Amino acid sequence: MTTQLVWFRNDLRLADHAALIAAAARGPVVALFVLDDETPAAWRMGAAQRWWLHHSLTSLGRSIAERGGRLILRRGRAGPIVRALAAALGAQVHTLIHHEPWAAVQAAEAGAVTEHLGVTLAPPESVLSGTGGRYRIFTPWWKKLLEQMPPPRPLPVPEVRWADVGSIASDDLASLGLLPTAPDWSGGFSDWQPGEAGAAARLTDFARRAARYDASRNLPSVEGTSRLSPHLALGEVSPNAAWHVIADAVGETVAEPYLRELGWRDFAANIIEQFPDHGDSPNREAFNRFPFVDDPAGLKAWCHGQTGYPIVDAGMRQLWATGWMHNRVRMITASFLVKHQLIDWRHGERWFWDCLVDADYGSNAQGWQWVMGSGVDSSPFNRIFAPIGQSAKFDAADYIRRWVPELAKLPDDLIHAPWEAGVGLIRAGVKLGRDYPAPIVNHEAARARALQAWAAVKAG
Ligand SMILES: Cc1cc2nc3c(=O)[nH]c(=O)nc-3n(C[C@H](O)[C@H](O)[C@H](O)COP(=O)(O)OP(=O)(O)OC[C@H]3O[C@@H](n4cnc5c(N)ncnc54)[C@H](O)[C@@H]3O)c2cc1C
Repeated sequence: MTTQLVWFRNDLRLADHAALIAAAARGPVVALFVLDDETPAAWRMGAAQRWWLHHSLTSLGRSIAERGGRLILRRGRAGPIVRALAAALGAQVHTLIHHEPWAAVQAAEAGAVTEHLGVTLAPPESVLSGTGGRYRIFTPWWKKLLEQMPPPRPLPVPEVRWADVGSIASDDLASLGLLPTAPDWSGGFSDWQPGEAGAAARLTDFARRAARYDASRNLPSVEGTSRLSPHLALGEVSPNAAWHVIADAVGETVAEPYLRELGWRDFAANIIEQFPDHGDSPNREAFNRFPFVDDPAGLKAWCHGQTGYPIVDAGMRQLWATGWMHNRVRMITASFLVKHQLIDWRHGERWFWDCLVDADYGSNAQGWQWVMGSGVDSSPFNRIFAPIGQSAKFDAADYIRRWVPELAKLPDDLIHAPWEAGVGLIRAGVKLGRDYPAPIVNHEAARARALQAWAAVKAG
């Protein structure tokens, strides 16, 4: 029987993995992962996700070893490595289809590869309008996708006959250098459990809370969302499994708000297939003329959670400490950077890319272009999030206390805008400018400046 090479990419699981299932049915299997920093070039995996990848590969390698196989690790340009190994083994290659622009390059360079579905709920090219075109607006796209839903039920880990790979060279995981050293900033990542078992445990835990998702998903102080995004980004659980576990737990109607968010992930794949440079170029041409300011000090203050706006600083510190940020706060922090500070969205996007354990090229670019107003489906530029109003509306006081402990003693009604707290600050023992920064911009003035910048762009 012909040897089958399963080329794992950001789909680090054994269950519901169509490439592994197809390979296992055809012959003895060799499992391969290639750390490829070359093909994605500027979009090579960021630092926080590399931490995740290290642990995810440990987990996958262990699962394969427990079943009698061995995960081969290599580093370099994936396509030629896969092609050479397949030639040396006389193997057929199987992998899952990924939608990032570099994934297609990798597959083309790898030679004869059989690509399987499993990264999205449905193949992006299968969701077409009545005239056969691709959608660029979420709501009609979602309606159309629903015609194909539910997705196929997830399949279990297949019986695999692992090939004897004793003579095949493999890099040592440690030699890939994925973990941070000097300094090791990953201390706050200990709540995560990367790997397929961790993903399954998180999904089971969320299934118990899923009925409350719609009511709590916008509240950063509460654990209202699934926090499954890093597991989905590295493919430790399939979106089909997430769909079915949650729909089975609470019923499709109650699950709809959550399933719709899973839909946004598919929609991002649909967008980057149409606009491969979505991470670098605005969809709306006018935004190429936007008068961004060059403000390295302002960017640094934003990155390090030192803007003087508690909700913004809490989010940026949560991101740095844990590699994740609540979705509502992602929108607020992103809006603050591009509209209050007038800093180019691509700086923020890059920072997120490096700091997020769930970094996903399509979802990240889509999130940033949505906030900027430059995406095909996005919030209009003149919708400027008021950070203080958002912070109060979504009850972020406890969230701020956790991530901005300097302000912990301020009462709920004063914590969102400490510069207005008056004697409240004295009572809480906080001196602005000493214990916590004064706001780096004035909200009303910044808003007016942003609208002026936008008016100039529109005027051409
Ligand atoms: C500026 C900005 C940048 C973002 N960057 C990323 C990113 O790099 N990677 C990423 O996975 N998400 C990104 N998002 C989307 C969203 O914030 C996260 O997916 C979500 O916070 C993950 O938390 P969760 O798993 O608890 O989500 P849940 O609310 O439980 O949602 C379920 C799943 O749906 C998907 N999802 C939810 N919201 C979105 C969305 N708006 N777009 C695409 N998929 C979504 C995620 O896979 C998530 O796990 C970004 C949003 C913004 C505004």
